[in-house]
Amino acid sequence: MSKHPLAYLDDELNDLRERGLFRWPRVLEGPQEAVARYDGREVINLCSNNYLGLANHPKLKAAARRALDDLGVGSGAVRTIAGNMAIHTQVEEELARFKHTEATLLYQSGFTANAGTVSAILGKDDVIVSDELNHASIIDGGRLSGAAKKIYPHKDVAAARALLEESRGARHVLLITDGVFSMDGDIAPLPGLVALAEEFNVIMMVDDAHASGVLGRAGRGTVDHFNLHGRVHVQVGTLSKAFACQGGYVAGSRTLVDYLIHRARPLLFSTSHPPSVAATALAAVRLVQQEPEIIERLWENTRFFKQGLKQLGFNTGSSETPITPVIAGDEQLAMELSDRLFTNGVFALGIAFPTVPRGKARVRTIVTAGHTNAHLRRALDAFEKVGKELKLI
Ligand SMILES: *Cc1c(COP(=O)(O)O)cnc(C)c1O
Repeated sequence: MSKHPLAYLDDELNDLRERGLFRWPRVLEGPQEAVARYDGREVINLCSNNYLGLANHPKLKAAARRALDDLGVGSGAVRTIAGNMAIHTQVEEELARFKHTEATLLYQSGFTANAGTVSAILGKDDVIVSDELNHASIIDGGRLSGAAKKIYPHKDVAAARALLEESRGARHVLLITDGVFSMDGDIAPLPGLVALAEEFNVIMMVDDAHASGVLGRAGRGTVDHFNLHGRVHVQVGTLSKAFACQGGYVAGSRTLVDYLIHRARPLLFSTSHPPSVAATALAAVRLVQQEPEIIERLWENTRFFKQGLKQLGFNTGSSETPITPVIAGDEQLAMELSDRLFTNGVFALGIAFPTVPRGKARVRTIVTAGHTNAHLRRALDAFEKVGKELKLI
């Protein structure tokens, strides 16, 4: 009898099972909070991107509820046909003011913002110069564009320079980086990269998914953090992390946005946000400007927790933001660390290849503004206990 045509998927999964790497997502039984119930156990949650603790915030819920009552549950079409609601353009206007750019364009997610934008502005005669740790959505955008890819070692500005040098003959060149790197929590050398982009007269793009609501004044991102306003041509932000709902956007010139409205495929071929989601985003962006002290609380928690992990003797890599990896190296050890932490009341996900390079497996932690000092102290106690059991410290 011949094999089922999808039998090779079983083979792949069995291989993962044998190596202890078969995972399935834990189930969140209730709202996304600093202490939450996953798989029947109440745990301190160090896994979410809900940086500012807004996912269950009364003001955001009220905004969503109002939009639901006034405008219904769905937009009914893609933006460019019949689904361009006033609330979508209101969010874009608010974001443009927030980011100090001429215009912004909403996408269904940060992923589609990157993939849709990169693939729209580049073609096969072009070159993309990209950090080796850039997000998958940037990599996919590059693939879809057909542009030649030149990858520089992580944060290596001199290497990026050499790649720009050898790309001089190309039609268009895009220099692109994550603002904050999602698995290591370090910050891009943006001033150096912007200077390079200006020297070589190439397009500069930054993906601020993990900087949105986290870095810069009121969470405006890395461009604001480094005071580079007007010098980065394309900024991507997400509404799905600190802003606690769903979506992404591109911020830049009116020309860029007008062009993307005609050429960005996620915009042209996928339905726009439900109005309640757009209303939530609008409320979130307004809230961080009215109450920037929420961001200060996030950073206080960040300093406390990062310091605590370091004092215990863990390898926390080169993190500079609320993302702090605890690097175990070995894949099974990282998964064991995560599992034992969970049994001890702390949810911190184990992450292995291909999300991070081989030999750099880790547990990734993200603190939020919603954690209390007591939560974080309890989490550090669990890390100490389990870290000693596994001889990581
Ligand atoms: C999460 C993330 C994205 C995708 O954002 P979504 O809004 O979740 O689709 C893009 N880039 C980076 C660096 C991210 O971490």
